[in-house]
Amino acid sequence: MRSYIVERSFRPGEIAAESGVYIVLHVHHRAPHSVLVLAGMRFPRCRDCGDRVRFHLEQPARKWDEPRTPTVLVAEGEPEVAQQLREELASEGYEVTVAASYDQAVGLLGRAQFDAVITELDLEGERAGLELARTALRMRGGPLVIVSTHNPTVHSLREVLGMRIHYLVTKPIDVGELTSALSRLMMRRAITKSGVYEAGNLA
Ligand SMILES: [Zn+2]
Repeated sequence: MRSYIVERSFRPGEIAAESGVYIVLHVHHRAPHSVLVLAGMRFPRCRDCGDRVRFHLEQPARKWDEPRTPTVLVAEGEPEVAQQLREELASEGYEVTVAASYDQAVGLLGRAQFDAVITELDLEGERAGLELARTALRMRGGPLVIVSTHNPTVHSLREVLGMRIHYLVTKPIDVGELTSALSRLMMRRAITKSGVYEAGNLA
């Protein structure tokens, strides 16, 4: 008799018990990719393969709330800009990870905790940056979210600001402005967080 290790897979409509990065398996139209699903959310249907799409937990969100040294995820499709941000932020003492695509950035968001995410609005030219910012903002104890953009339209500006991101920076990026905004935001958050931790320790 053979035995099999059965990996639990989840279907659209089921409620996720655990937050994490899930691998999405489509029927035929698209290669597997990663999505972030938060506990309590329903696994979504696929526009193309409907209820036949399946989800496997790739990376549970265990370590998202542990305190760490300052880390920044830079989601940036222009290699020169990514490189510049990496160097400047590293020289300010941040640990920098660069993602060149939306899928890569979402995968990284689930695998490691970042204190801040700096994403361009037109990541991959399809406004995936907006979706990434939205995802990051939904995470519990989630990162500070900074969006960068070339000539934004009034519509996209309204949309970005309506999401309550933490900072908006225009391209070409003034790195001095960006790093000072980032350190102000980090400091403000550290103060807030320390209050939360103290209160928690009393319980
Ligand atoms: Zn599908």
